Amino acid sequence: MNIGEKNKNDQVLLLKTDTKSTNHPFAKIWVVQCDKCGNKYGCNSCDAHIRKCPSCDKSAATAEPI
Ligand SMILES: [Zn+2]
Repeated sequence: MNIGEKNKNDQVLLLKTDTKSTNHPFAKIWVVQCDKCGNKYGCNSCDAHIRKCPSCDKSAATAEPI
């Protein structure tokens, strides 16, 4: 994904950090924002393209620290 790109769940990629993911061994933490509620949170780079907002969707994975 590129910065500014939105995934199919309306999550927009804001920033790619070099911080290691806390839940995926080879991933980095990326900052994404929900286009529906404005929630800004961290997700791992491997899941960004399918990420769901943890505020809007109870089935979403826990956010990464940012
Ligand atoms: Zn949301």
